[in-house]
Amino acid sequence: MTLTTRFAPSPTGYLHVGGARTALFSWLYARKHGGKFILRIEDTDLERSTQESVNAILEGMSWLGLDYDAGPFYQTHHFDRYKEIIQQLLVQGDAYYCYCSKEELEQLRTEQMANKEKPRYNGKCRESDESQLDREPVIRFKNPVDGVVTITDLVKGDIVVANKELDDLIIARADGTPTYNLTVVVDDMDMKVTHVIRGDDHINNTPRQMNILKALGAELPKYAHLPMILGADGARLSKRHGAVSVMQFRDDGYLPEALLNYLVRLGWSHGDQEIFSIDEMVEYFDLDDVNVSASTFNMEKLLWLNHQYIMNGDPAHIARHLSWHIGQLGIDPANGPELVDVVKAQRERSKTLVEMAAASVYFYKDFDSYDEKAVKKNFTQGSDHVLACLHDQLVALTDWNGEAVHQIIIDLAETLGLNMGKVAQPLRVAICGSAVSPAIDVTVSLLGQEKTLARIEKAINYIRSLN
Ligand code: GLU
Repeated sequence: MTLTTRFAPSPTGYLHVGGARTALFSWLYARKHGGKFILRIEDTDLERSTQESVNAILEGMSWLGLDYDAGPFYQTHHFDRYKEIIQQLLVQGDAYYCYCSKEELEQLRTEQMANKEKPRYNGKCRESDESQLDREPVIRFKNPVDGVVTITDLVKGDIVVANKELDDLIIARADGTPTYNLTVVVDDMDMKVTHVIRGDDHINNTPRQMNILKALGAELPKYAHLPMILGADGARLSKRHGAVSVMQFRDDGYLPEALLNYLVRLGWSHGDQEIFSIDEMVEYFDLDDVNVSASTFNMEKLLWLNHQYIMNGDPAHIARHLSWHIGQLGIDPANGPELVDVVKAQRERSKTLVEMAAASVYFYKDFDSYDEKAVKKNFTQGSDHVLACLHDQLVALTDWNGEAVHQIIIDLAETLGLNMGKVAQPLRVAICGSAVSPAIDVTVSLLGQEKTLARIEKAINYIRSLN
C-alpha cells in the first residue's frame, strides 16, 4: 500500500504556523518515502467555516511550496458517504439512537462532577429503545466496554487507554449531520491514509477513532502526534505572541524556505545542523527524531534564519519575492534597476524583504524629503560646491559605471583637500535621501546617470535654500 499522509485543516481562520508545521511534517514524511500527500479541508462545521479561510489555507500551502498529490478534498462533498457509514454502523449494531435530553445529560454531568467522576455518557440508550419519545435523536457509537486501545504512536511511543474510559461518542447530531470523529475516520479510511500525523491536541480522539475504524473492519493507520508549539511565556502559541499566520510572515518579509527551515526545527532535530535545504529536510526527516515535549517559538531565531537565506539564497529567487514587496509599496520595479542586482546590493544589510524593499525605494522613485540627521551632518556649508564639482565631472562621464564614479570621488576629494567621506556622504544623501545605502559605487551604478545627476541638482538647490 502506498504510504499516504494528509493535512486536514478546518477552515475556521488563517493558516496558523502550528498547522503549517503539521503540514510540513506530513509532506516531508510522504516525500521521504515516495508516498502520497493529501490536502483535505474539514469544512463540516458550517457555521465556523469560511471560504476566506479556505483561500488562506490554499494560499499558504502554495506560498510554502507544500504541493499535494491529491485534493483539496472538501468534507462537505462527502455527506452522503458519511450517512452511508452511519447507517452501516447502526445496522451492524455498532451505533444506536440516543434520545437523552440536554437537561438529562446536564444533570448526569453535575452528579458525576459532584462524585468527582469524569463526566461521561452513562450509556442509558445503549440497550433501551426510547423511540416513542417525541424528540429527534442523536446517534452514538457503541464503544467497546472492555479491553484497552493501544496507540502505537510514532512520536510518543505506546499509549494505552482503557475502553471504560471512553464513552459512547456522538457520531451524528440530531439534525443528522456527522461529527468530527466520524468524518475523519471515514475519510482516512476511504483515502487509504497510512500515517496520521497531527497535533497532540487530537490525542484524546485517537482511541475513539481507532475503535470506529475497527468496527468498520478498516486497517488502522499509524499515528504520530506532534507536540505543541508554545510562545516565549510558555503558553500555547497564539496571536498575542505576534505573527502566527503563515501569510503574515510573508507580509513581514520572510522567505518561505526560511519559515520552513524554522518550522522543521520546531520539535525535530538532526544533530546540531540548523540550516536545511528542502532536499536535506526530505532526506533526513524522520518521525523518530521528533521531540516528545513542546517546543518554543523563537522569533529571533526565525529572523536570523531569514537573514541567512536572504544572504545566501539564489538572487533571482529572492528577487521574485522582493518584487511582491516592492509592488506592495505601490512601486513598479520596471522604473529602475533589475531587482536581482538590488538583492545583491542590499542582502547583507536586510534581515527581511520588507526592510530590503523599504531601503530600495529610492532606486525606483524620487523621494520627497531628506533624513533630517543626515542633512545636518552632511549638507553643511560648502557641500553644495562639492556636489557641483561632482556634477560637472559626472555629466561628462560617457561610460557610466560604479568604478569610474568611485575614481571621480577619490580624485575630487584629493583636489579639494577633503577626506573621501566629505565627498561621498553628501552624494549619498543627495541620491538616497539618507546616509545609509550600499557602497556608493554600487548605489550610483544601480541608480543610473540620469537619476543621479537630477538628484544632485536638486540637492544643490536644497542646500542653497538652507543658507
Ligand atoms: N480538522 C482537524 C483540525 O484542524 C484536524 C483533524 C486531524 O488531523 O485528524 O484540527
